[in-house]
Amino acid sequence: MQSFQIMLESTLMSERAYYEDSYTNRFKAVVIERLVHDGRPALILDRTYFYPTSGGQPCDLGKMNDVSVVDVLVHPQNGDVLHILENEVSADQVKAVIDWQRRFDHMQHHTGQHILSQAFVQIAAAETVGFHLSPSSVTIDLDKNSLSQAQREEAEQLANEIIWQNRPVKARTVNQKEIQSLPLRKIPPARDGRLRLIEIADFDLTACGGTHVARTGEIGLLKIIKQEKRGEKLRIEFRCGHRALLDYQQKHQIVTQLTTQLTTGANELSTAVVRLQADNKQSHRQLKKTARRAGSPGSTTTH
Ligand SMILES: [Zn+2]
Repeated sequence: MQSFQIMLESTLMSERAYYEDSYTNRFKAVVIERLVHDGRPALILDRTYFYPTSGGQPCDLGKMNDVSVVDVLVHPQNGDVLHILENEVSADQVKAVIDWQRRFDHMQHHTGQHILSQAFVQIAAAETVGFHLSPSSVTIDLDKNSLSQAQREEAEQLANEIIWQNRPVKARTVNQKEIQSLPLRKIPPARDGRLRLIEIADFDLTACGGTHVARTGEIGLLKIIKQEKRGEKLRIEFRCGHRALLDYQQKHQIVTQLTTQLTTGANELSTAVVRLQADNKQSHRQLKKTARRAGSPGSTTTH
């Protein structure tokens, strides 16, 4: 259960500065409201670069006057950004630092998601109907219940080409009238008749409130690692940037260990495992035969 207790009245609304700038991770701000949220101290600032959990993307974490920011969320009543702190901060002004590694990872994956979603539209006419980003996995849900391996590979290839072309990624805000005339992948309900759009030059235009990289090259690499059928939908798991590198390092290490253990090359690993399984089956059959012979009356010898 969420509980809110307003301790300082204020009519000001905090400015979400991350809408204009995803790269600032150190800033000063004025405290305009102090609250208690689920028993923990919380602050509302006059402006913030902290992204609150929303739209499938987790919040930023960091510090405020050296006190840890443990959660950031949108106030359910007035839409303000609430910074939940580990301990009380009594100052009226704060120096804030956002955990850059976490923020950049979110920027890479969120922009990567836009590119991959558009790639699936172009390659397989598959629309994205869900997005989930967490420290352990990043997935999109497609409105198709099957895709061929070739379609997956083509979408992955196209996504990486867009990344390597280092195209600009720009945010802009449009009004209700303009929305109808734009080639948006999907049109969500606009707040106050205005919508924030993310445009990947000559490739994708999507309504989104998240944090993104300025050029696609910063994503580095996008790799699809899993496909899972979920009813009438397909869940695609993928990794970008540093997480894709970590995945490659881990898998490379596993392959290197296996090639050493099986004294074979990486390309022959699969054949070597099939051979091992066949040998194992054969040995098992042989063992059973021998055991049967040893146990049957005809095979006993009398002395
Ligand atoms: Zn986005």
